[in-house]
Amino acid sequence: MTTGPPDALIDALAAVLGDGLLLDDGERTERARDTWMRSQIPITAGNKVIAPVAVCAPADADELAAVVGICRAHGTPMIPRGGGSGVVGGVLASADSVVLSTERMDGLRSLSSPDLLATFGAGTNGLAAENRVHEDGLTIGHWPQSIELSTVGGWVATRASGQYSTAYGNIEDVVHSLEAVLADGTIYRSRSTPRAAAGPDLRHLLMGSEGTLGIVTEVTFSLRARPEPGVRQAFHFAEFADGIDAIRETMRAGWRPPVVRLYDGRESWRHFRDRLPKGNAMLIFLHEGPPGVAPLEAAAVGELCAARGGESATREVVDAWFDNRNEVPSWDELLRSGVVADTIEIATDWSRLPALYTAVVDALAAVPGVVAASAHSSHAYRSGANLYFTVAAAPDDPAEFTATYDACWAAAMRAADELGAGLAHHHGVGRVRRPWMGAELGDGGLSLLRSVKAAIDPDGLMNPGVLIP
Ligand SMILES: Cc1cc2nc3c(=O)[nH]c(=O)nc-3n(C[C@H](O)[C@H](O)[C@H](O)COP(=O)(O)OP(=O)(O)OC[C@H]3O[C@@H](n4cnc5c(N)ncnc54)[C@H](O)[C@@H]3O)c2cc1C
Repeated sequence: MTTGPPDALIDALAAVLGDGLLLDDGERTERARDTWMRSQIPITAGNKVIAPVAVCAPADADELAAVVGICRAHGTPMIPRGGGSGVVGGVLASADSVVLSTERMDGLRSLSSPDLLATFGAGTNGLAAENRVHEDGLTIGHWPQSIELSTVGGWVATRASGQYSTAYGNIEDVVHSLEAVLADGTIYRSRSTPRAAAGPDLRHLLMGSEGTLGIVTEVTFSLRARPEPGVRQAFHFAEFADGIDAIRETMRAGWRPPVVRLYDGRESWRHFRDRLPKGNAMLIFLHEGPPGVAPLEAAAVGELCAARGGESATREVVDAWFDNRNEVPSWDELLRSGVVADTIEIATDWSRLPALYTAVVDALAAVPGVVAASAHSSHAYRSGANLYFTVAAAPDDPAEFTATYDACWAAAMRAADELGAGLAHHHGVGRVRRPWMGAELGDGGLSLLRSVKAAIDPDGLMNPGVLIP
């Protein structure tokens, strides 16, 4: 490893990147972090954003591999970045780091309608990718709430979930093949095949690696034909647990509505006031599929819900969700109004879901300063579902924001861990869940992950501080 002044680093990077090396204060500051509430707290309080030495925006995997080699030779930490919509602190530059931005690895590389395959540069915006395949009557079927803010490479790096996941699966179910520059500068390309029994699936080392093992440069999706317009329906239940039963029976019967969302009493009243008795839990469905499937599925699921005490609600409830589904207040707005908040998503099997819901809501509500704790379930599986908690606290003194935030996370993670739940459903680990990775993976799992990291990144230069404790 050569040590030298930053000038030597900058000169070497400039020789590879040309215009793809961004050095302006504004350009570096804009790309220094993601959308983590905790890293917003000091900024709203008036502190300066810590910017990286430079932003590297290579045009392709070869340029990126050269950049990785230069950074390794200089001992420079590298922070991969896509759209910056991550909410767990996966992107947070230090003053001696460079940000590796995928923004110029953008756009469609190839599309084969007969094979239902489309390849995009990793920096392609999610909605742009979905819109592009729509032109050919196809869909990726991956609709995270952040689809307009995130990149396809970021989806892979965080093991993201979309709002239609109950039918179409999560990112791991729609990724066909990948290209990546690994932390040691080598380029990995998975073979394009519908399935392989050729050892462990190495694509999965990158899915969820959050920039710690390398940078995904290209993603090939296995697409679907766009379905017919769907059927929307909703039911409300006296108890959240009754709604969970209805979802479990829907899954058990083999139905797969793309959208299945159950809100607890607090969230139901917040979103659908006057459409149900206060305290009831609203369950919404969006059914779609090949011609004829959606009405058939909607009728069967409707019967299942009615048999469990579900009262039919107006379809406008689902329309209201659909129309507003991607609207969220900014962290800065909330902090300025005196509120520190976050969302925490976890998962478990059906038998433990009701207890998990109660344990985590109670644990959050007990944190001093917390004014609201609630949850919904938005992703269902044969053997369980997720719970997506929202917590808001209004400590008397803004100086307490960070401590309150940390206390909420610790309370939720502890309660979930005690019940053996999965501690991270789809936002990833980043910095916020990193202390809990030992609990999630166990000693053997953590040691395996650390060994992989050490083999490929012995100096720990690829996204230090993220994922791996
Ligand atoms: C309003 C809002 C709604 C959201 N809704 C959802 C949702 O419905 N479902 C969901 O799953 N998530 C959701 N998220 C979280 C976030 O959008 C996802 O985690 C998304 O996949 C991040 O993509 P990105 O391109 O913005 O990645 P970034 O934020 O730039 O990076 C996220 C992590 O991945 C790494 N990374 C990024 N690109 C690459 C790459 N090409 N190769 C290797 N590592 C990389 C970074 O180092 C970092 O660790 C939401 C976030 C917001 C702000």
